[in-house]
Amino acid sequence: MSILRGPRPMWKRKQEIATEIIPDCPTCGKRGQVVCIPKYGIVTMMCIDCLIEWSSLTHDCPVCGEPNNYAVPGTCVACYKKKKKKHGVA
Ligand SMILES: [Zn+2]
Ligand SMILES: [Zn+2]
Repeated sequence: MSILRGPRPMWKRKQEIATEIIPDCPTCGKRGQVVCIPKYGIVTMMCIDCLIEWSSLTHDCPVCGEPNNYAVPGTCVACYKKKKKKHGVA
């Protein structure tokens, strides 16, 4: 019996299994806050009222097509900065 051998179980973190964009608290419906640096287009959201966390996909940037790292539509930070520079918006 060698059941102790082999890969250790992978503890799947919530944000790795997000399958949809959920910007609002699943409990109270309030807009959630991003609580960690998004990666791979998945972000952890938190409701400060309910003190719960959930994972959400982020939207895609309409300019470059990459995940914008926000749970709301819009351009990514890189494109936002570029745009800002280009148009000279203060
Ligand atoms: Zn809530
Ligand atoms: Zn972009």
